[in-house]
Amino acid sequence: MIIQKMTSSQKIQISDIVEQAERAAQMVSQIRLRLLAPDTIKKPPDFSLTQLASLCGIDKGQVSYRIGKGDLPTGNMNDKGSRREFSLQEARTWVQHYRAANLRPKGARAVTIAVGNFKGGVSKTTTAMVLAQGLSLRGHKVLAIDADPQGSLTTLFGIMPDTEVTEDQTIAPLVYGETTTIRSSIQSTYWSGVDLVAASSSLFSAEFVLPSRQLKDSSFQFWNVLNLGIEDVRDDYDIIIIDTPPSLSYVTINAFMAADALIVPLPPNALDFASSAQFWRLFSDLASNLVENAGITKTFDFIHVLLARVDSADVASDVVRSWIIATYGEKVLPVEIPKTAVTSSSSAEFGTVYDISRYDGSMKTYSRARDAYDRVNDLVEVSIRNSWTSQLGEGV
Ligand code: ADP
Ligand code: MG
Repeated sequence: MIIQKMTSSQKIQISDIVEQAERAAQMVSQIRLRLLAPDTIKKPPDFSLTQLASLCGIDKGQVSYRIGKGDLPTGNMNDKGSRREFSLQEARTWVQHYRAANLRPKGARAVTIAVGNFKGGVSKTTTAMVLAQGLSLRGHKVLAIDADPQGSLTTLFGIMPDTEVTEDQTIAPLVYGETTTIRSSIQSTYWSGVDLVAASSSLFSAEFVLPSRQLKDSSFQFWNVLNLGIEDVRDDYDIIIIDTPPSLSYVTINAFMAADALIVPLPPNALDFASSAQFWRLFSDLASNLVENAGITKTFDFIHVLLARVDSADVASDVVRSWIIATYGEKVLPVEIPKTAVTSSSSAEFGTVYDISRYDGSMKTYSRARDAYDRVNDLVEVSIRNSWTSQLGEGV
């Protein structure tokens, strides 16, 4: 009797959960204010002359010479007067000058890449963010679309999904059929060269709204909403990156159908590998169904499987890596993202490896992570440029 009484008095009421939710939200906003102080917006890194030279693919002497010519931004000396610093925006101007041959050719349209995998925690959002940042550092103009109601990508931009995002700044107006273009949902961000369509938990309603629109109107194409919605801006951006939720939801299907390419981050462990098998099965069933029943054609320019969060201390990962390569073959990118303290420590500050100007820990640890992400961006850029070439070949 006594035990029963104790347990019933210890039961957790919904009101306790409400209170706890309130405390958690307050904690997040406190952490955020502390991290972003004194301003409440996130700051992008500055670039040294050496970093700028490396982004432009030239040597430091050339940068100094060019500063003398005065036709590109000259940067500013830091407070101590000891080194020249370039803002992100200035750096991108330089990069666009020196990498002009790598930029989107006239007549080509944005290449849309969805980052997806069924599973949570495989580094989809981190990958989406480093692609957006890394490709913009290569001179491209990027639109990042957060299609996950959890809004993690939005958070990485220093924006709190549930307090700082209105429905109009998300894909919700498209989902509800209030608009046919994503344009009015786009905002600029702290990162020059990357715009954002944010997400918030209100997007969960998309999972009810899309099927109910389909029920009311059998000609409504529930999978085509995002694809049609971004049509209007495909000429305004070089690359569109969509971060997706960890499920095959209606929104995820929209993201995949809107995409020209998929990037699938996959840590080499047995459970993640098994769940990726499920992912392909479900997606292929669904896509074949759509293709058959709706008579649509759907192709992807490229699909890259990215070995992510690779733990070099884990011996089992060698075995799983061999399964992954045997299964996905050519689709596996020839680079691995190590499991790194850099990502976890900077993500504690709502950022990525590209947000760090000067890393406090070991330089070797930082370089290993940074080099891996740079390599991914290099490889993805090659695929993107191939897409542009083939678009032009097709006379699009
Ligand atoms: P998803 O979007 O697939 O759920 P996230 O990108 O949110 O995955 O990553 C999940 C967690 O793993 C985050 O805390 C993130 O900081 C961390 N993480 C991502 N990539 C790495 C990495 N290479 N090394 C260590 N931690 C990582
Ligand atoms: Mg995520």
